[in-house]
Amino acid sequence: MSDFDCDLFVIGGGSGGVRAARIAAGYGARVRLAEEYRVGGTCVIRGCVPKKLMVYAGRFADAFEDAAGFGWSVEKPRFDWSVLKQRRDAEVTRLEGIYDANLIRAGVEIHPERAVIEDPHTVRLVGSDRRITAAHILVAVGAHPVKEPAIPGGELGITSNEVFELDSLPERILIVGGGYIAVEFAGVFAALGSRTTLLHRGEKLLRGFDDEVRDALGEAYAQRMDLRLGRTLQRLERADGAIRATLDDGTSLVVDQVLVATGRRPNVAGLGLERVGIELDSAGAIPVDAWSQTRVPSIYAVGDVTNRANLTPIAIREGHAFADTVFGGKPAQVDHRLIPTAVFSTPEIGVVGHNEDTARACYGEIDVYRAAFRPMMATLSGRQERVLMKVLVEPESDRVVGVHIVGHDAGEIIQAVGIAVTMGATKADFDRTVAVHPTAAEELVTMRVPAVTKRPVGVG
Ligand code: NDP
Repeated sequence: MSDFDCDLFVIGGGSGGVRAARIAAGYGARVRLAEEYRVGGTCVIRGCVPKKLMVYAGRFADAFEDAAGFGWSVEKPRFDWSVLKQRRDAEVTRLEGIYDANLIRAGVEIHPERAVIEDPHTVRLVGSDRRITAAHILVAVGAHPVKEPAIPGGELGITSNEVFELDSLPERILIVGGGYIAVEFAGVFAALGSRTTLLHRGEKLLRGFDDEVRDALGEAYAQRMDLRLGRTLQRLERADGAIRATLDDGTSLVVDQVLVATGRRPNVAGLGLERVGIELDSAGAIPVDAWSQTRVPSIYAVGDVTNRANLTPIAIREGHAFADTVFGGKPAQVDHRLIPTAVFSTPEIGVVGHNEDTARACYGEIDVYRAAFRPMMATLSGRQERVLMKVLVEPESDRVVGVHIVGHDAGEIIQAVGIAVTMGATKADFDRTVAVHPTAAEELVTMRVPAVTKRPVGVG
């Protein structure tokens, strides 16, 4: 036993911190964890989980509409925000309780207050002004949404934190940004019945995604909401109980809420990092090596505060790998190269691997297999939206290096495809996989002729 009060002190009870604490405790480490808000972190409390519940709520709108083509007559459905909010919040509280209970069962001592770093082996609990020494400190404090750029009246906008607290469904909402959070909430509010404007400074949504995916989402969103691309927000001001938003082209619109989703920054302010000589990188994140170790050997960091891949499953893996390495005698690193991901827009997006641009930059010429089609359900529902599926293949090795799906259940599909791609599947492996008929996903294994190739015509 060391002379320290504990073997591990985890600052932050989100996805990464909780996993690290539980696994380390399972190896017999004496673990303490401080959380200043609610155990569960962004994902459980005000991110993935409540967001996905709202996405589900929104999807019923399409289902009610589509039902008519199948013989159902659905009286004009009514949506009650307060029912959704109450049930969603209850579910979040239930999950929070499970997270708490799991930590306690693992033997982790929880401090429900803010903790800051005093020196390489000491944290201070701010509320109770207690000092606790630890052989290792893990910083897993996550990130927070930012409103950028600062504009006059910016305080009238809300972020993805406050969006979960709204007491009523806004009749009109302006959403600023073109990343995951903006497009997901734009889809939710449009579906729930808000008159939704999505404003993005770029010419396409979702920078970094495959261009055709971005085009497909742009086309769908232009049908589903007021989509304004290549525009920025200049000013917000109060207008008769509502908010007037003025854009850079001089036009303005009056809305009830403005949701600013222009990115997130690591939660490092006042954490005491400078006291121990940890300098932040250009994104304001904590630099770590492949073992999640900072330049101070006793201090590690995982999750969004390190700005590697800001996704819950990655934070969980980083926390787990840290605990395996430091307390389990099983050195483990997280592979950040191949990450399946979904955007819960409507239509949904699922992606694993390269997009066309990065695949070409990496491998030179690639084969592009593409299917864009109306799904079977649309034949009776009459819905016009198309499904897009793309498979990118490196011709030399025949390896599938990227799969992109826009359409219903894309997230569910890409999880399974992600296994094959992670295993190094080739196009030939896809081809010899028997189709599941009739499904939309069968297109992934029935695309025979590449839309773009340098191989001799007729081969493929
Ligand atoms: P993103 O970084 O994904 O998007 C930020 C958006 O804001 C971009 O469209 C960006 O435009 C725009 N923007 C940035 N600065 C400005 C500015 N000064 N003026 C106007 N627009 C600006 O951040 P999010 O907040 O959407 O999401 C944060 C992270 O959370 C994501 O990266 C993702 O990792 C994670 N997340 C994952 C989800 C999932 O897995 N489904 C769901 C939600 C979040 P531009 O592209 O031009 O830079």
